[in-house]
Amino acid sequence: MNPDKPTMTTATVDKTVRKEGMYEVVMEQFAHAADIMDLDPGVRKILAKTNSEIVVHFPVKLDNGKIEVFTGYRVQHNNALGPYKGGLRYHQTVDIDSARALAIWMTWKTALAGLPYGGAKGGIQIDPKLYSQNELERITRRFTYALGDNIGPDLDIPAPDINTNAQIMAWIADTYSSTKSPATRFSNLHVVTGKPLGAGGLEGRDRATGFGVVVTLKAWAKRRNKSVKGMKYIVQGFGNVGYWTAHFLLKEGATLIAVQDATATLFDPKGIDPEALLAHSDANGRTIKGFTGAKEMEPKEFFALDCDIVVPAALGNQITGENAGSIKAMVVAEGANGPTNTEGERLLREKNIDIIPDILCNSGGVIGSYYEWLQNKRSEIWKIAEVLEMLEEKLEDAFTKVADTAAEFKVDWRTSAYIVALRRLEKAYKERGIFP
Ligand code: NAD
Repeated sequence: MNPDKPTMTTATVDKTVRKEGMYEVVMEQFAHAADIMDLDPGVRKILAKTNSEIVVHFPVKLDNGKIEVFTGYRVQHNNALGPYKGGLRYHQTVDIDSARALAIWMTWKTALAGLPYGGAKGGIQIDPKLYSQNELERITRRFTYALGDNIGPDLDIPAPDINTNAQIMAWIADTYSSTKSPATRFSNLHVVTGKPLGAGGLEGRDRATGFGVVVTLKAWAKRRNKSVKGMKYIVQGFGNVGYWTAHFLLKEGATLIAVQDATATLFDPKGIDPEALLAHSDANGRTIKGFTGAKEMEPKEFFALDCDIVVPAALGNQITGENAGSIKAMVVAEGANGPTNTEGERLLREKNIDIIPDILCNSGGVIGSYYEWLQNKRSEIWKIAEVLEMLEEKLEDAFTKVADTAAEFKVDWRTSAYIVALRRLEKAYKERGIFP
């Protein structure tokens, strides 16, 4: 970190950063699907609320010797099907509403994928770019300590999300297990997934979400008697999900014509090389700005570009009433969580643009996490080829279930994905009953 750079304090968190407003969107989607499938009223009441919401304020000493107090969140929506599961995000937009929305989406996602997990999400309201690596380590470790036994390998298992990565997961695993008795140290490593390979990570977890986005795109193309080969696409977000999606789409013969991240929007109708762009981004502090292999363009024109596939892989509420009407693509593959709001979705539907919904499209990440968790529980080391093969099979199954249910109920794929997930949750409650 540049020592001259001002350090952001919780009091000066940039309030101009637009709130994502995802909670309203997820509740509207839930109500719509619950009405159509006639969800049991008791189960509907349970699922409309989160089970627990943890807010922690914790102090950290910064490099300049000053103390700063940070605010972290962990919202646990539902655990009817298994331990809570979901990412931790370090971003200025993290607040209780966004954590709630993202936790609820995780419950639907794990239920749809047929995993033995519930849904949770959390993070810290912070712009990580303003802190040194040492500060981020202390912030992460102190956040983990503050969460204490609210997380655990059989209770609630965090994973990476926006601005959190394998290194941050390793610090969480180390901090969590260091506070437990030495005899249980190694049986606690799977308190998080998305760890580096040397710290119990799974080969392939890094690319699982982007790989899954491409598996669902191929399944979509098959349903529509098309091929992604030769298609043109644009990606918003060039982090974990955006890059790996581009990496696998390149292998399928599709052409990346535009990329947008938080710092720039790049365009080249002849094609942008994702590998060269990654090398540039890695060398420049995770920014695509300044890349010479494409031209910079006006960010507002991004979604209106002439292409076949749009992949939002950044924040929520990006495709809205303001820009959905200008989208020309055949399909929106939701790599991000909650990228399309209700009005945006209505406009896409009016134009007969397909949407591969987030809880299906990006579920490769949590499925990969499940394999990592199993690998750790069984003290095994799995190979990447078998991981990707299992992932592909599971995602194709989920896609088929969603498409078949859409035909059964005569609904769009998002609503049918909800119905598949909600049916599974409803069954669990009906069979098990409510204690006492
Ligand atoms: P990341 O931190 O690796 O990358 C985020 C990217 O989004 C960066 O390129 C950043 O510059 C860009 N971005 C941020 N604000 C932006 C803005 N206003 N406009 C355009 N771009 C912007 O995060 P990630 O892990 O790739 O996650 C991206 C999305 O995918 C999130 O919605 C996340 O919840 C979802 N997701 C991630 C995973 C996973 O395994 N990492 C799994 C499922 C879903």
